[in-house]
Amino acid sequence: MGAFLDKPKTEKYNSHGEGNGVHFGLSSMQGWRVEMEDAHTAVPELPAPGMSDWSFFAVYDGHAGSKVAHYCSKHLLEHILGASLATTPAGSDSSPSEPPAPVPPTVDAMKAGIRTGFLKIDEHMRSFSDLRNGMDRSGSTAVGVLMSPEHFFFINCGDSRAVLYRDSHVCFSTLDHKPCNPRERERIQNAGGSVMIQRVNGSLAVSRALGDYDYKCVDGKGPTEQLVSPEPAVFEMVRAPEQDQFVVLACDGIWDVMSNEELCEFVKSRLEVCDDLETICNEVVDTCLHKGSRDNMSVVLVCLPNAPKVSEEAVRKDAELNKYLESRVEEMLSRPAEDGFPDLVTVIRNLSTDNNLPTLPPGGGLASKRSVIEAVYNRLNPYKEEDGTGADSECHW
Ligand code: MN
Repeated sequence: MGAFLDKPKTEKYNSHGEGNGVHFGLSSMQGWRVEMEDAHTAVPELPAPGMSDWSFFAVYDGHAGSKVAHYCSKHLLEHILGASLATTPAGSDSSPSEPPAPVPPTVDAMKAGIRTGFLKIDEHMRSFSDLRNGMDRSGSTAVGVLMSPEHFFFINCGDSRAVLYRDSHVCFSTLDHKPCNPRERERIQNAGGSVMIQRVNGSLAVSRALGDYDYKCVDGKGPTEQLVSPEPAVFEMVRAPEQDQFVVLACDGIWDVMSNEELCEFVKSRLEVCDDLETICNEVVDTCLHKGSRDNMSVVLVCLPNAPKVSEEAVRKDAELNKYLESRVEEMLSRPAEDGFPDLVTVIRNLSTDNNLPTLPPGGGLASKRSVIEAVYNRLNPYKEEDGTGADSECHW
């Protein structure tokens, strides 16, 4: 943990898909960190009997290695479904000659199944030899949304976050599990630990996670009473198809530099300009990098049937903004200052104080137009370095 590269790895992993009336896109990027430890899950149509009209999406932010995050991204859903279907009685009203039709879990069975699924996968991974003997000390947060035709089940364990945008505002967000939260601190202290520099025993920044078995071996305490607990917060909500617009799941590499409102306003404004969800997720990740995020970044955007649509006016305004930025950069570079050809940081600083600048994308600001600015700059820069990106980590927006 805590080790950084000399320059960020900006290659992105992308995916997209659709099913059950929802479209999703996702993007993840290693960024400044030496390792990529994030993982994700996107299943628009569940393979479980009687649940093909359900969907599941999740983001996992690993720490001290990627093993737990990766295992969870592949197997958490099956643990949840196994636990929730086990508590659901098979259909009882069918005639004796027919096999009972599969019945989806009730809301209460699903909530109990999600909790049990988390505890089960945590217990299961503990038996893996490298996790048991301490060769691998990794852990992971998990944030997800499970959707039935009628309900959202928001699921959170740790400090990644899910938000629901409904009726053009942030209607719901999960609450991060931080060691300083009174309830978390109480559990940590009851398990014989302490909270220092806002961390569990001065070390781990999240108070709930999967894995992290170093923090789960207090004698005489159950799995949910340990220094770090695998118990998820589960919040169910009735869907409002006319008002629900999108759900965003992201790790703290995103939320460190954008608030819930900023990210949702930015996503909304980009959905009015572009219908490619991967592109929008890439813009979110790039914008967060330029806003100063030093962490791995992952974002999953789930668009519901009433998500914002591309509007001609928004497209025109965005093109105008790009054109304005391009011409301003050209102008600055065409008459170099006395102290030489301006560097990119100076160009951006000049733009940020430009009073004639058209309205920037809400929540994204100038950082979200970095690629537009950089493209012109690189085209006109006679001293361009071979490797392109340049050392500009000191540039703040
Ligand atoms: Mn992180």
